[in-house]
Amino acid sequence: MVYRSTLQTRQEGFYDVTSKVSEAVRESGVTDGICVVFCPHTTAGITINENADPDVITDMLFALDKTLPHRPEFRHFEGNSTAHLKASYMGSSATVIIENGRLLLGRWQGIYFCEFDGPRTRSYFIKILPG
Ligand code: ZN
Repeated sequence: MVYRSTLQTRQEGFYDVTSKVSEAVRESGVTDGICVVFCPHTTAGITINENADPDVITDMLFALDKTLPHRPEFRHFEGNSTAHLKASYMGSSATVIIENGRLLLGRWQGIYFCEFDGPRTRSYFIKILPG
């Protein structure tokens, strides 16, 4: 079974989906296994990073802007090549081990949906495998 979640994004940013993913794990009844979170969009991604100090996310967005600025040489007709590049930098999925019915995340880790071309209504998938 695949859980499908939707998310209304307001703007470019990182949206913490950890509690939604934890909820899906609880609902699945799987106590030991693997959880995959997958983003089916080309201008958004999934990553795991710190959820304690929000300045980390602010700094990541700043660094992505500095690393991947818009270039007049870009050819993509939509004009949002930076969003595509940032999405690939972050990746489309995250895999987390499930142990004793809980996500085996580090103390300061959270799972983020990364929006690079919002506002949009987005979706992401959660697949939970026992094992
Ligand atoms: Zn595009």
